[in-house]
Amino acid sequence: MERTLLNQMAENDGKKILVEGRVLNTRNLSNVSFVILQDRAATIQCVFEKETGVKPGEAVSIVGTVKKEPRSKYGYEIQGETLEVVSKLVEDLPFDMTKNELNLNLDTLLDHRPVSLRHPKVQAIFRLYDILLKSYEMVMREEGFTEIKTPKLLGSATEGGANFFKVKYFEQEATLAQSPQFYKQIMVGVFERVFEIGSVFRAEPHYTTRHVNEYIGIDGEMGFIKDFRDVTEMLGRVMRKMFAAIATEGKQYLDLYGVTLMDVPEKIPHFKLAEIKELIKKEYGHVVPPTTDIDPKGELFAGQYAKEKFNSDFVFITHYPWSDRPFYTMPDPENPAETLGFDLLYKGMEIASGGQRIHEYAQLIENMGKKGVKPAGMEAYLNVFKYAMPPHGGWGLGSERIIQQILGLGSIKEAVLFPRDVKRLAP
Ligand code: ATP
Ligand code: MG
Repeated sequence: MERTLLNQMAENDGKKILVEGRVLNTRNLSNVSFVILQDRAATIQCVFEKETGVKPGEAVSIVGTVKKEPRSKYGYEIQGETLEVVSKLVEDLPFDMTKNELNLNLDTLLDHRPVSLRHPKVQAIFRLYDILLKSYEMVMREEGFTEIKTPKLLGSATEGGANFFKVKYFEQEATLAQSPQFYKQIMVGVFERVFEIGSVFRAEPHYTTRHVNEYIGIDGEMGFIKDFRDVTEMLGRVMRKMFAAIATEGKQYLDLYGVTLMDVPEKIPHFKLAEIKELIKKEYGHVVPPTTDIDPKGELFAGQYAKEKFNSDFVFITHYPWSDRPFYTMPDPENPAETLGFDLLYKGMEIASGGQRIHEYAQLIENMGKKGVKPAGMEAYLNVFKYAMPPHGGWGLGSERIIQQILGLGSIKEAVLFPRDVKRLAP
């Protein structure tokens, strides 16, 4: 018999079928026993006349008849005839997987990742992530962006600073990419609009709920812009379409977390950094410490302000100071102490940084000089600006942060399959 998937019940009503999957739970009463079965497509209850002896967690193959069952939340059930265990537990599962909530502390959840990921509520995070990646790709293509994959092994650090990992590379020393920045800019000179979904490595010794040392960046870069507003407008449109897809296709996963996604507004509010700092000081009495452009608490208040005044979960903060932005960021022609660099906050947390870039060779070299950035090792990148780069800009989004914020996860690590942090290099 061919295998039938568990989302094909309506078309098989009354028929005898073969199904396969993992047992989520079992329940034995005196004259009847139940097996909750999950496969890649859906979940369903199978009913047997006697005990099956199967344990939650085992992989099974069941033959039975599909029956409409309006009392069941699945709408159908399978009247089981035979159950064969195709793969047995050699050891008991490390924790009870049969409850709706796992309720494990973060370390236990991560230490036993291959098992905890099987839990329906944990799985839901990555089903949603799958939809996010797919819809980003779809939307970017719709907007005329070409997908690229750029190298992650580099001969020199991308943007300088100390937060890069060194690796041995034959006789040389290489670094792992901190962003696809230089390559995606180079590719604007080729394709005009490009996007990348790729690994980003950051050697930041953080112990926060929003950082991991390896994450997936979702980037976009576009040429022939008038100014940075073209970029924020495009990013807003991409988020709007992406969130609409996640809300419809991901509904069952969002429901598990009690989340209803709000539409991304047509016009996401924009504030200059200096302006929003004043507003949150006035409104909430929060003063951003002078050592940072904006602190996490300031981001929260900026998010709260956008929500209260504009009913928006999203807010752009623009015109970050020249001193805080990388050398390739376009200074604001009206006030060179500020840049045309921006961040996008979602529910009070940065999910993207972006901006207009410098596209003229002389200005780039001059800006590097002012910042004390040495051109050595960057020749291939810098040279492209001699060959007529169009005005351009783009963004780097953190994919896991988006999921973290959508579902309200306590830590970003819950949104990474196998997170890497200062202490954790396994599983
Ligand atoms: P933060 O200020 O939160 O440390 P950042 O400004 O250093 O972030 P960017 O270099 O602007 O980060 O990276 C672009 C995006 O990538 C960020 O907006 C964020 O969504 C994501 N991101 C950055 N660093 C990390 C990290 N360590 N772990 C997970 N996501 C990250
Ligand atoms: Mg940033």
